[in-house]
Amino acid sequence: MERAREGAELIKMHIELGHTVRLVSHRDADGITAGAILAKAVAREGGSFQLSIVKQVSEDLIRELAEERHEIYVFSDLGSGSMDLIDKHLSFATVIVADHHPPEREGFSNESHLLVNPVPFGANSVRDLSGSGVAYFVAREMNEKNRDLAYLAIVGSVGDMQEIDGTFHGMNLDIIKDGRELGILEVRKELRLFGRESRPLRQMLAYSTNPEIPEITGDERKAIEWLRARGFDPDIHYWQLREEEKKKLHDALVIHLIKHGAPKEAIDRLIGDVVVSPLYPEGDPRHEAREFATLLNATGRLNAGTLGVAICLGDEEAYRKAKKMLDDYKREQIEVRKFIVQNWGMADEGEHAYVFYAGRNIRDTLVGIAANMAINAGLADPEKPVVVIADSEEDENLVKASARTTEKALAKGYHLGEALKEVAEKLGGEGGGHAIAAGIRFPKGRIDEFIRFFNEVLKKQAEGRR
Ligand code: C5P
Ligand code: C5P
Ligand code: C5P
Ligand code: ZN
Repeated sequence: MERAREGAELIKMHIELGHTVRLVSHRDADGITAGAILAKAVAREGGSFQLSIVKQVSEDLIRELAEERHEIYVFSDLGSGSMDLIDKHLSFATVIVADHHPPEREGFSNESHLLVNPVPFGANSVRDLSGSGVAYFVAREMNEKNRDLAYLAIVGSVGDMQEIDGTFHGMNLDIIKDGRELGILEVRKELRLFGRESRPLRQMLAYSTNPEIPEITGDERKAIEWLRARGFDPDIHYWQLREEEKKKLHDALVIHLIKHGAPKEAIDRLIGDVVVSPLYPEGDPRHEAREFATLLNATGRLNAGTLGVAICLGDEEAYRKAKKMLDDYKREQIEVRKFIVQNWGMADEGEHAYVFYAGRNIRDTLVGIAANMAINAGLADPEKPVVVIADSEEDENLVKASARTTEKALAKGYHLGEALKEVAEKLGGEGGGHAIAAGIRFPKGRIDEFIRFFNEVLKKQAEGRR
């Protein structure tokens, strides 16, 4: 919080001096909400900003930013893995990195650079606070009024799956408290599947990949039968159900999961924290945090992240444009699941990891979701990390890969972010991220070496643990 306060003071000082605040944020829901929170906070103080939503930080990006010669740069939901590059190219400016990725170092040595990141203070990067949450605390230190951005901060947190086990943790709880006090959000114990607002029940169940519902995920006809047999109208939306109907649906689903031998973790997280906001009407995707986050992810993946920021700032026209993207994005996820289920036999199963190369069959922005799907669909042993690789959309010589795993596997000592960082150095690529979820880009011709190095590094991590 002290660092957040320092960051807030720096931003306000530059606003007073009339400097444009240069905002750079990550391209997923967490980054988009983080960017929107900071943009709003700057505008509220009468300042001006320039904002970019980017896929990742590279040396080229930092060089380009340096050429713009701003007095102040604020990175959100990224930057912690690029502290050396920031020091190298942006030494002339004030830089604030408001992030939750495990940082390269506990802080910058350059006095005009500030790291606001809860991880060196003991926070778990994928549970306790998201990038939007860090941005929120900086904004709140700038002005008490910014408490009204608490819902956006939680939308980012849900986008990063910080409540994957069914409840919020850490400093996320402080944000929720602020939002509740203001009456702008509410946490309910409900069905935690995508589609509360905008999907009929038959799709909410059939499209459920996180967790999967045995025999129903991927099969809308089965979902309809199942719902009818239990007295539910398959075309109704979850938000339209009366409280006792919701309860009846929850009970039926839990019984179904138990009957089909679903893992305990899947059952535990089916019903849990669901955040809704009275700022938007029922039935609107923005009314519920998961749907709002997915809408923003849809804009980001189509290189329209700034459209997502506009939605967060209340632009109704931007919202109407993005709504169309959401349907395609969800449909594509279903196709991805089908592909990975049908072709899982191609996966390389090593001693410590599965590696699945999808070529052009999976878009490079969906490999993270694909890896989680392989775990949730029971294709992969949950104690072994999964990597899905696809050809890069920007550069035909590169591939993009995402690694995902479970808490169970982490207990063996794995840290996927550190592993991919190390492998990237060997392969001439860029990699990093959290212990449980990480990413990498590397030359396409080196997939076989990747498989070998990645298994070796994980082996070393597991042995270090013992
Ligand atoms: O993991 P990643 O951030 O790339 O996921 C993006 C979004 O996709 C998240 O909001 C998550 O809820 C959604 N998702 C999903 N089904 C999965 C994995 C992710 O709907 N199996
Ligand atoms: O870049 P960033 O921190 O925003 O993204 C975090 C990523 O980790 C997301 O893709 C999110 O879906 C993923 N995640 C996951 N499993 C978890 C927690 C987060 O796959 N338990
Ligand atoms: O790209 P992907 O969604 O698989 O990334 C998973 C997590 O790893 C995200 O939090 C992302 O920001 C992070 N990451 C990183 N450095 C990279 C690639 C990914 O910190 N080079
Ligand atoms: Zn994040």
